[in-house]
Amino acid sequence: MTELPPFHNEPVLDLTQAANRDKLREGLAWVDERLPLSAPIWIGEERRGGQRIVSTDPADPERTIATAPIATAAEVTAAVRTAERGYRQWAAVTARERAVVLSRAAAWLRERRATVAALCVREAGKPWALADADVCQAIDFLEFYARGAVALGRGRALFQVPGERNSLHYVPRGIVAAIAPWNYPIAIPAGMIAAGLATGNAVVFKPAAQTPLCGFVLVEALRDAGVPPDALGLLQGGAETGAALAREPRVATIAFTGSSPTGLDILAATGTVVPGQRQLKRAIVDMGAKNCIIVDQDADLEGAIEPIVHSAFAYAGQKCSTASRLLVHEAVAGELIDRVVAAVEALEVGPPEAFDTVVGPVIDRRAQARVVHYARQAAASGNVVTRRLPDERPERGWYCPPIVIADVDPRAAVLRDEVLGPLLTIERVPSIDDACRRIDALPYALTGGLFSRSQATIEHVVARTPVGNLYVNRAITGAVVGRQPFGGNRLSGTGTKAGGPDYLLHFVEPLVVTESAMPTQPA
Ligand code: NAD
Repeated sequence: MTELPPFHNEPVLDLTQAANRDKLREGLAWVDERLPLSAPIWIGEERRGGQRIVSTDPADPERTIATAPIATAAEVTAAVRTAERGYRQWAAVTARERAVVLSRAAAWLRERRATVAALCVREAGKPWALADADVCQAIDFLEFYARGAVALGRGRALFQVPGERNSLHYVPRGIVAAIAPWNYPIAIPAGMIAAGLATGNAVVFKPAAQTPLCGFVLVEALRDAGVPPDALGLLQGGAETGAALAREPRVATIAFTGSSPTGLDILAATGTVVPGQRQLKRAIVDMGAKNCIIVDQDADLEGAIEPIVHSAFAYAGQKCSTASRLLVHEAVAGELIDRVVAAVEALEVGPPEAFDTVVGPVIDRRAQARVVHYARQAAASGNVVTRRLPDERPERGWYCPPIVIADVDPRAAVLRDEVLGPLLTIERVPSIDDACRRIDALPYALTGGLFSRSQATIEHVVARTPVGNLYVNRAITGAVVGRQPFGGNRLSGTGTKAGGPDYLLHFVEPLVVTESAMPTQPA
């Protein structure tokens, strides 16, 4: 079998090119002609549709994107039982062959990137550039972990002495439950599933109830590429289905991305051994955040505005890496606030399919209500420095106006809780140390940013930061597979770093074989 070519990141589309925009429009037209679609449960060869979940367009909730069933407890059990068979089959395939299959799934997505991106636009309300980046990141995860698992399959070198042969191998753990959020509906599940499959595990995947169709299409890509049906099952449903799957005694590994309360519930379940369970569960959890950017008095303010505003407001502030607190040195706070406000006022708010949209809708009614609640609460003690008010919303779609609020009461919950919406608070700080102290007081530690021209300040903040990904003099979102391994610490996650060199180790168990170096009979 020929070697896979070296890994490279999938380039995002240049949307200034009319030809690329036309391709995406065609993809959207193709999707729209077929709506509403069905996003069934898929266990082995069997598909079961249903109407209990209805995913709708966040920009136009009257438009149904897909209907899906909610998996029953019996279906969760059936999916896991089927995955046990699939595991035996898939684990027997060499790492190289598995890598070829994953790489074929990447090719499947590449060929259909316009329609898959269109699904993200419609079902998750992602503006085009980010929907396209979602598909590219999924391709990257598939290609990156495919190659990583081939390397891991070679094992590691051990110390050897005469008369003894030692070898270290990595073997799959069994069945992986992949439980995903809606905000990267293709990329994040692609990463968790690809890591499980590349290392020889079987996977049962449950997408978020908001994005069942994106989840279905991803499974279609992997199965069309050659993943045996029994080795990759799809369950649809919400919290109850996810909880049942995580608690299934035969699930060995849980790969979860989502909010901190859910992640903590999964970790608690992981620590309890239930009847029928023969293996300790392991959970890889990537959770919520409260990301802060520090701006020092020597920062290049002009250069900082675009990355700050992009970090806070792209995808309506719904990325896990979104900046929600800006801590600015008081010497430059006035000037910075004026510039940020001018840039935020100019942001294009509109439907995700419009190419100039930066801030689209939030995912659903509940998200809209949460953002309004926090915006009102912040406005009660601080100064709303942008013109739009928390309650200003169009009649149709789950929109929230992008808002900046300065000088909020330091005890306000908005400074601690994850809001996940287009709301940025600004605090004036007397020193960088004071900013570091405020950040250190948070339970979350996912991403962070620093704008400074001083190498000493940069090193000082690097030494003090609790976050998993610190970005200096640039935007704090948009981690690239292989270049910026991504994941948080504290209540933001287990620090397992998706897209990094060590991620796959969480999906395998080490096996050490020590042989006496006596001559043996040929096999
Ligand atoms: P969520 O926790 O509500 O749901 C995530 C997934 O877990 C969904 O599939 C859901 O159905 C399922 N689920 C819910 N309760 C469950 C339970 N008790 N047991 C098992 N599964 C359960 O999160 P969400 O609203 O879908 O996603 C947004 C959150 O995800 C935000 O907090 C965001 O910061 C976080 N996120 C983090 C990262 C990261 O890398 N750290 C990346 C993306 C999103």
